[in-house]
Amino acid sequence: MKFFRCGVCGYVHEGDDAPDQCPKCGAAKEKFSPIDEAEAKLIERSRYTNDLHCRLIALMGEVISLAEAGIDDALDPPCIALFKNAKEKATIIAQSCKAEIRGHMNKGKWG
Ligand SMILES: [Zn+2]
Repeated sequence: MKFFRCGVCGYVHEGDDAPDQCPKCGAAKEKFSPIDEAEAKLIERSRYTNDLHCRLIALMGEVISLAEAGIDDALDPPCIALFKNAKEKATIIAQSCKAEIRGHMNKGKWG
């Protein structure tokens, strides 16, 4: 499998040939450049991990929403403390995932 990057928007296409038109920005096929094998391997390897980070960020968003509902519900002080703790931890995990993804992008582990 080969990878091609749109020179206009950075969209990465996976296939035997570049697409006739960029599905993201509409740029013509000629705007696509092939990605070399080393970078292609890095992209392939990184996609799975980056997807896991994205899924974890989405789940932490759900945890934060549940925790906020629990804080608003305010049944008793231990519950409020637990929900505040859950919100704080979920925020840290989500932000840590984002920092990790940013690091990956800076090292070309993205695509
Ligand atoms: Zn594009």
